[in-house]
Amino acid sequence: MTKNIAVIKGDGIGPEIIEEAVKILNAVGEKFGHGFNYTYVLMGGIAIDETGDPLPKETVEKCLSSDSVLLGAVGGPKWDKGEGSKRPEAGLLGIRSALKLFANIRPAKLLKPLASACPLKTEITDKGLDLVIVRELIGGAYFGEKRTYTDEKGHKTASDLMKYSDYEIERICRVAFEMAKKRRNKVTSIDKANVLDSSRLWREVSHKIASEYPEVGFSDMLVDNAAMQLVRDPAQFDVIVTENLFGDILSDEASMITGSLGMIPSASLGEGTLGLYEPIHGSAPDIAGQNKANPIAAILSAAMMLRYGFDMAEEADTVEKAVDRALDEGFRTGDIMSEGKRLVSCSEMGDKIASFI
Ligand code: NAD
Repeated sequence: MTKNIAVIKGDGIGPEIIEEAVKILNAVGEKFGHGFNYTYVLMGGIAIDETGDPLPKETVEKCLSSDSVLLGAVGGPKWDKGEGSKRPEAGLLGIRSALKLFANIRPAKLLKPLASACPLKTEITDKGLDLVIVRELIGGAYFGEKRTYTDEKGHKTASDLMKYSDYEIERICRVAFEMAKKRRNKVTSIDKANVLDSSRLWREVSHKIASEYPEVGFSDMLVDNAAMQLVRDPAQFDVIVTENLFGDILSDEASMITGSLGMIPSASLGEGTLGLYEPIHGSAPDIAGQNKANPIAAILSAAMMLRYGFDMAEEADTVEKAVDRALDEGFRTGDIMSEGKRLVSCSEMGDKIASFI
């Protein structure tokens, strides 16, 4: 099979970790007889430097005409002082909306060799920790009407409208139920239906979609309880589906309990097969250019691309197993280093994983 991948290296450690992800994709291509073609495009700080725009039109066009998009990370102190639309992060929001990516998929899985990095007690982690958060990405308070004004009594006031329509809830819930069918058949929908109208609509629509999936177990949970349950008993969750703001917070909480930021991939999906795959961490300017970054989040993002973008489950499994093996054999980048393990550079970690494909 031949696939065309748009690659955005971005800033900071972006180019280093992407090089390793591409190394792994090439090893997969060789083993399974696939051809992966890469088109490198600019976004973020480097795009500002070279074109004056964090998201050049050409980048959007090339991403739209590709089968999938692989992204490193964008941003850094050099561009922090620019106005909103001229900052690297504007590229990130812009590409998600240009590609109409409404679903963000973030797995949180505790890998056995890294169990000591988990801040939870072993009696909790012994039950396992393997969940996916499906977060709505282009609605809710982040995209609703925003106002800062002086009210009639002279108080400075600000508001962000949290708004959802039924079709937005329906499509994200379908992503969650389809995902649960490929996992352990369980969806938990998180809302704040005791207080918010948008959550009451969320609950009504999610129950309607749940009735279309009788084979998948379904329950609701209030967001405050969910925040607590994630640290008290995370093994109860398989797929969590929730709106944008709650998902932003809960997915960071879930990532933290699995250990390092450098380990966690993500996928942003829309209606079709075109998706954007990226690690959850940022551009780590403090270690950029030193060959120290952990490339595993980027490599596992490439594995998600194989699984969800190209329907290559066996290939994705092979990458995940190669990562497990590198960790099992004791290879560690600095961020996950512990006593008795072997410290390797970013490129050495990529080489090890590639050799296990
Ligand atoms: P960060 O994730 O870049 O770094 C936080 C800490 O984790 C740093 O100490 C860093 O060295 C470490 N770290 C992160 N990824 C690592 C990896 N793969 N291997 C080893 N260590 C790693 O977050 P930050 O410092 O808050 O942000 C830095 C820049 O990244 C900012 O400009 C921010 O806006 C941007 N950012 C971009 C994205 C994105 O592109 N999706 C996401 C978050 C932050």
